[in-house]
Amino acid sequence: MSRYWSTVTHGLIPYVPGEQPVLDNLVKLNTNENPYGPSPRALAAIRAATEDSLRLYPDPDAKALKAVLANRYRVSPAQVFIGNGSDEVLAHAFIGLLKNERPLWMPDVTYSFYPVYCGLYGIEYRQIPLDDDFILRPEDYSPCGEDRAGAIIFPNPNAPTGRLLPLADIERIVAANPEAVVLVDEAYIDFADPSDNASAIALVGCYPNLLVVHTFSKSRALAGLRIGFAIGQHELITGLERVKNSFNSYPLDRLALAGALASVEDEPWFQTSCRKVIATRATLIAQCQALGFEVIPSAANFVFARHPGFDAARLAAMLRQRAIIVRHFNTPRIAQYLRITIGDDNQCAALIDAFRDILHAAQ
Ligand SMILES: *Cc1c(COP(=O)(O)O)cnc(C)c1O
Repeated sequence: MSRYWSTVTHGLIPYVPGEQPVLDNLVKLNTNENPYGPSPRALAAIRAATEDSLRLYPDPDAKALKAVLANRYRVSPAQVFIGNGSDEVLAHAFIGLLKNERPLWMPDVTYSFYPVYCGLYGIEYRQIPLDDDFILRPEDYSPCGEDRAGAIIFPNPNAPTGRLLPLADIERIVAANPEAVVLVDEAYIDFADPSDNASAIALVGCYPNLLVVHTFSKSRALAGLRIGFAIGQHELITGLERVKNSFNSYPLDRLALAGALASVEDEPWFQTSCRKVIATRATLIAQCQALGFEVIPSAANFVFARHPGFDAARLAAMLRQRAIIVRHFNTPRIAQYLRITIGDDNQCAALIDAFRDILHAAQ
């Protein structure tokens, strides 16, 4: 606390990001980074952009990147918004689209940054409980008489559970709430089984109230570059542009723009790395289950698991002693779960060895 702080600052409860330890040789499975690294073409483009033109401002409208994303996702460039990480895109959406007279509705178990933005921007919100299996029930988001959401936000797949909501359920929610913006945060959607066709981007053309947010941090392995984007009808995108141009005209620097563009152009690298994560996930889930873990079905690059015979916080601490870090949230309903990022095959093998060790020693 400081006498120099504003009242707003006094009232904030900031988000606590997963730890980024300085130690080498850690098996780091706590922040859902991608073990396979960015496209080599993206790295080459970043190197090539490291030149004299850095004295010039970047394109404030990221036109070239919007064009390749529009092409990749079969929308028009006017339906794309770009930000400095999807966290920034979300922040602009909270103040620009989700703040209303009526409260914002979100699941009770969800990305823990959402309530933080509500605190920052003075947005009232209501937490709608997921069912006992952490499934979101679309009917809970239907307006009931005068009781309806001012706006709705949820991740799909959900974080930190990894559960995927089928596209038909999303459409029910979006269609039932034509007065409310529905924001679907698809940070992990690229790790869903491709045959599920789960992305709500397919619905954007039909619903002016739908905004879909993506990030380059997970599936494109560019968490360090900070790129996120939103896809929605032009009406929503211009709202985001107004907020962005009232905050920072140049959210993406020249290196980020160059790297992001080359990353989108390297579709094979993207597909291969997503496929590898999906394959490793299936193995990891089976191995965890064989050790007695209960694992929530995951469409993300992490699994959410608990062991009925072992306290989650204690398990996390014992993994840490073995130089493996996973994420534990000490919050209601999920305090007995661990969120474990899908690493490469060696990292997952190290994790399973450690679990085996710990569980045997406890018998
Ligand atoms: C990781 C994550 C983000 C943030 O991604 P950045 O683009 O790195 O800011 C947003 N939403 C969810 C649900 C996430 O897990």
